[in-house]
Amino acid sequence: MNECIFCKIINGEIPCEKVYEDDKILAFNDINPEAPVHVLIIPKEHISMINDINEENVQVVSHIFLKAKEIAAKFGIDESGYRIVTNCGIEAGQTVFHIHYHLLGGRELQWPPG
Ligand code: 5GP
Ligand code: ZN
Repeated sequence: MNECIFCKIINGEIPCEKVYEDDKILAFNDINPEAPVHVLIIPKEHISMINDINEENVQVVSHIFLKAKEIAAKFGIDESGYRIVTNCGIEAGQTVFHIHYHLLGGRELQWPPG
């Protein structure tokens, strides 16, 4: 778990452009943005992926969504529209195995993503 890059970002071992932080979650700009707004929202507790959500840790997911809409409003994209995505597993394109929610917006987004 201590090799997890997102845990290292939470610990301050790896720097990030912080967007929001509280006792439960951290939000920061994606290092390789796919849209004008591309924020990653992560729980401070290490959870690898959706498959590891359970009755004990599920509350952080609703907290992430409550804060996601505030972050979208902060960037001025709450009215125009935005997307929240979490990739679960290899075929979905998950590359970092600390659960994270991509908040994407600031341009017209294609659907389906491919
Ligand atoms: P995934 O492919 O797992 O859904 O998304 C991982 C995301 O993390 C990618 O969009 C990638 O650009 C981002 N990422 C990977 N390493 C770092 C890092 O060290 N700092 C930041 N800010 N983002 C990262
Ligand atoms: Zn982690």
